[in-house]
This record gives sequence, C-alpha cells and structure tokens, in this order.
Amino acid sequence: LIDPDVALAVDERVDTTTLRLVDDGLRVPLADSRTCAYANFDYAASAPALERVVDAVRSALPSYASVHRGAGAPSRVTTDRYERARDTIARFFGAAEPGYHVCFTRNTTDALNLLSRCVPGDVVVLEIEHHANFLPWARRRVVPVAATRSDTLAALEQELSARPAALLAVTGASNVTGEVLPIGELARLAHRHGARILIDAAQLAPHRRIDLCASGIDYLVASGHKLYAPFGTGVLIGRADWLDAAPPYLAGGGASAAVTRSGVDWHTGPARHEGGTPNVLGAIAFAAACEVLAATDRGALVRDEQTLTDRLRRGLESIDGLRTLRIWHDDGDVVGIVSFVVAGCDPAAVAELLSNEFGVGVRAGKFCAHPLLAALGCSDGAVRASIGLGTTIDDIDRLIAGVRCAVTDPR
Ligand code: PLP
Repeated sequence: LIDPDVALAVDERVDTTTLRLVDDGLRVPLADSRTCAYANFDYAASAPALERVVDAVRSALPSYASVHRGAGAPSRVTTDRYERARDTIARFFGAAEPGYHVCFTRNTTDALNLLSRCVPGDVVVLEIEHHANFLPWARRRVVPVAATRSDTLAALEQELSARPAALLAVTGASNVTGEVLPIGELARLAHRHGARILIDAAQLAPHRRIDLCASGIDYLVASGHKLYAPFGTGVLIGRADWLDAAPPYLAGGGASAAVTRSGVDWHTGPARHEGGTPNVLGAIAFAAACEVLAATDRGALVRDEQTLTDRLRRGLESIDGLRTLRIWHDDGDVVGIVSFVVAGCDPAAVAELLSNEFGVGVRAGKFCAHPLLAALGCSDGAVRASIGLGTTIDDIDRLIAGVRCAVTDPR
C-alpha cells in the first residue's frame, strides 16, 4: 500500500535512547504455545513508561521522605523535586505564568471531578466526550456533533449564545477516532460568550504539543499513564480564581493552613486540593516524561505518527466490509488512533483472535464513550488500534494481516 522506504518508523528518525520504552522486546504467548514480539496497539488506554522515566524514579527513591512538613534533608530534597515537577509540567503545557495553578491528581478523571466542584454554572459538552468529561458535570448541556467540524462549532455557538454557561468542556482529541479539535477556535468561541474553556488533553497531550496560554485554554487535564509515565498521577492546570474559591477537594492535612476546634482556614493554591500525602514519585515520573518529550523533535514525531497512522488506516480500509470510524469526513488533523467495525464480526472476537494468534493487543468495546458510539451507529462496540512511540511498520502490517484473517477466516 505504501512504499516501506517512504514510511520511516519512529526509531529511524529520532534519538532511540531517549525514547526507549520499558516494554521494548516484550514477548507474549500465542495460542499454539509459540511466543512472539508483542505489538502494542493500546497506547490510548495506557502507554508503557519511558526508560528515562524509570531512571528518574529510581534516582529519586533514596531521598524518600514526606514533602512540605519535614525538616530533614531527604524531606527538603523530596519537596524540592515535587515542586520542580510541578514547574516542569507547567512549562510543558505552556502554563508557566502567574494566575495558573497546577494541581496533582490521580488521573484525568480525578482532575475533572475536582474541577466539577469549582465551576460556578452550567457546563456545555459535545456528545463525543469520554465519560470522564461527561459524567462529573452535574449541570451539563450536551451538544450533538454535526457533519463537519465547522458545523459543530456553529452548533456550540448557538448553544452558548442561547443561554450562558460557565464552561465549555471539550476533548483535545477523540479517544475513539483520534480526530483533533480546533482548540484555538473553540477557546475564542467560548470567550466570546463569556464562558471559559477546558481541554481534556488525555489523548492529545501524548501526540501534540499544547500551549495553554497561547491557545487561550483556561483549564487542562491530562494523565501521566498515557504520556509514558506509570499509573497514578494526573494534573489539573488552570486559572487560580475558581480553584481558590472552591471547597477543598480533599479536606485534611496539607490543605488546611490553620485549624481550631470549631473552624479551619484553607490554603489557596494547589495545596488546597491536594490534602494528604501526595504521590511524589508519580509527579516526578510525569515530569520526567514531559522533559523527555519536550527535548524531542516533536515535529518529526508527528510526521512519523502520521505516516504510520495513514498506513494503518489505508490497510484496514482495504479490507472488505470494514468501516473505520470518523466523526467528521474532512481532512482535519488526526492522532494515531483508528477504530473500526467489520460487518458480521464481533469486536471482542476480532480482538481475541489478534491477541491469541498474532500477538497484537488492541481494545474492543465502547471506550467509555457510549453517546459517541451510538451516534456513529456502533452501539455494539468497535475495535480500537492506537499507536505510540514504540510502534513500527512491522507491527502495523501484522495488525492488518490479523484483521484480514479475522474477517476472512473467523474461528
Ligand atoms: N479523557 C479521555 C479523552 C480519555 O481517553 C480518557 C481515558 O482513556 C480519560 C479522559 C480518562 O483518563 P483516566 O482513566 O486516566 O482518568
């Protein structure tokens, strides 16, 4: 389909030492008791950690002490590392300006739940959102997507002009189709109508550079485990005023400045919402992943990803009866995620065959995006293949061969 010499894999283009992943060389068992190299197509769920991230965690471990309160040297070192991690993440997302807080959370879902306690009014969302950016908003107004990105923007404009809302909460990239939303335009639209904008960057951040201040983003959430760090850490970055005015997300030590028998003064700043002992190693890991990505030629990464995604999409679309899912039929930007359905094939059975017979890991289901799957006519689910830093051309060709086999010779 594509000349293999034209489609260069990531490891031919950028510094492989820096971008090496911990699952490099992982072998998995096949049904016939052979083993083969694992082909990971589930980066959109969780990406394996970078080796550099593991190194950063390992070097932080000897100074293992509680942050902020201890007077001992390890406590001071750990506090310094924790706060530097916050600064690194702020810079990575273009939010290193006064007036913004970076709050550590457990993941994107946690960050959105935190923000949901701070928003003083209605929240407008699109029906394409992951449940994490749908269910936490008690006062949500859902806008259906239209046939094109610009018609969808017009529908949002209509909703925001009909009735005021406090926040427009949209994903940066769909976790089902990979389609990227026009963040700058959405931010201007929200601001025109007196609303703020939140970008759910869980899927966009691993694939594209995001500059919060330059794009006019008011709030951003992301997960470390999708950005080549381990599980357990997310962030909410955003304007200080709502965060400082809201009740603490986790009441307790660390969040409180002064406590009497009958009352409490809460901190302002990130501490207000980070009660209890934080996940310091998770913060260090998240920041280390940001540092590696920030030091990489991300333009080259994007070009490689687009070549690989194109090969994947075109290979899949050459299979009879297979439909790849798209929200909009235009040539807008798409990150490395391709979901598909095959007439007459159960998505879970396709995924199982790929794993058992080809050593390929995809995801089958509805991807925590039930309203979108329903809108796309796939209420029974789909198969999702998502790529990342370790994906090679061979992996892609093996996936396509496996799907072809599942379709033509379903067991
Ligand atoms: N938002 C999007 C777009 C996602 O894809 C996901 C997870 O897949 C989430 C939010 C939730 O992320 P987490 O499970 O890390 O909280």
